[in-house]
Amino acid sequence: MHPRNIYRQTPDFRQLAVSYPPLKHFLQPHPNCIDFQDEEAQRCVTEALLHRDFDLEVQLPRNRLCPPVPNRLNYILWIQDIVRACEVVAGEQAVVGVDIGTGASAIYPLLGCRLEPSWSFVVTELDDLSESHAQKNVRANNLSDRVRIMKATATGPILIPLSDPSQNFYFTMCNPPFYSSTEDVVRSSEAKEFGPSAVCTGATVEMITEGGESAFVRRIVEESLVFGTRCKWYTSMLGKLSSVGEVVESLKANSIENYALTEFVQGQTRRWAVGWSFTRIRLPDTASRVSNPNPLIQRYLPPHNTIRQPAKTDTKALQDVLLGISGAAIESRSSHFLVKTIGNTWSRSARRKQLRQMELEGENGVPEIIMICSLAVTREYVEFQWVQGKTRSLFESFCSHVSRKITSSR
Ligand code: SAH
Repeated sequence: MHPRNIYRQTPDFRQLAVSYPPLKHFLQPHPNCIDFQDEEAQRCVTEALLHRDFDLEVQLPRNRLCPPVPNRLNYILWIQDIVRACEVVAGEQAVVGVDIGTGASAIYPLLGCRLEPSWSFVVTELDDLSESHAQKNVRANNLSDRVRIMKATATGPILIPLSDPSQNFYFTMCNPPFYSSTEDVVRSSEAKEFGPSAVCTGATVEMITEGGESAFVRRIVEESLVFGTRCKWYTSMLGKLSSVGEVVESLKANSIENYALTEFVQGQTRRWAVGWSFTRIRLPDTASRVSNPNPLIQRYLPPHNTIRQPAKTDTKALQDVLLGISGAAIESRSSHFLVKTIGNTWSRSARRKQLRQMELEGENGVPEIIMICSLAVTREYVEFQWVQGKTRSLFESFCSHVSRKITSSR
């Protein structure tokens, strides 16, 4: 579970019922128990958590998916990590995000708006009933000026909000219909999200799409190629391990090397989320790589953007090393240094110099910042965080150079 997820411990349902009395009716005699086989009880828990913890009034229709709040919160917190990483480079700008298939609850834009008062959303929905409920839920929370709902069509493009060239987005997110057929649903039920005995209330349109989630997300990948940097990070949740490999392969086949793969674990349920970008913004490993991956996931992980070099040093010594690098701009922040370079100014070799000359000639002959890197010191190591850049080898060369200098200056 995400470290900032407030549901790391199962909620105390009795206490929850105190702040949301309709839940009292569903409390079981067994301490802290709810019958998740009971659809109404499931909906009531979601409504209660959204009410108590996010000040959201949400009504969920009977015959549509009931979103488990802890799982949905995981995804939006990961999106928050991505936005924060973008802000290191871009500064604080208006954040507009896209949610594909927002569902009757409109849970992602509602949670997103509560977590971040400056965010707004353009969201899509295919199903009429879900769309009208989503509209109601957005209005009920006075968020109509921050959440715009667009109607999608089954045969049209998926990323419809991006077709407006005047609008840029920070992120797209999507919890796609997972399954390819009814048999597929029966084989692995989304009901597991609430625990082994939960009932699943999803309608066919919410659960099933041709080719399953993998085909749906690969379509998003294809469409994103056209929009490129109009959106900083494209993302999607995935419910099946097999889809992770298929989607990562499709990213690689399209030469998208800047991608992220994370895992959301909640009780017995494991979900993954994949993200990719055509910008040069690099995410920290905490957001771009599953920590403690099993071997099946390990081989799909992107390379590290966070490198720790064991070194006994202190902030002053590190600063001296950084100041010794000609051409690098050093900003001292509260817990780290931000280093901006416009080329490889630390290596002496002729080949490097040649490369540097090429790198300096950015668009229109204006030198471009080609790498931003953040460095922090602890007692045991220096941590290098690649923040922005195109050439991985340059980041790695910079890390080795600084580490060598630190060692030799002791
Ligand atoms: N975001 C919600 C709902 C996810 S279920 C949640 O996480 O709880 C998937 C949703 O995608 C359903 O509401 C379904 O109607 C919608 N959907 C399916 N195909 C779509 C498409 N092509 N464009 C937009 N929405 C679509």
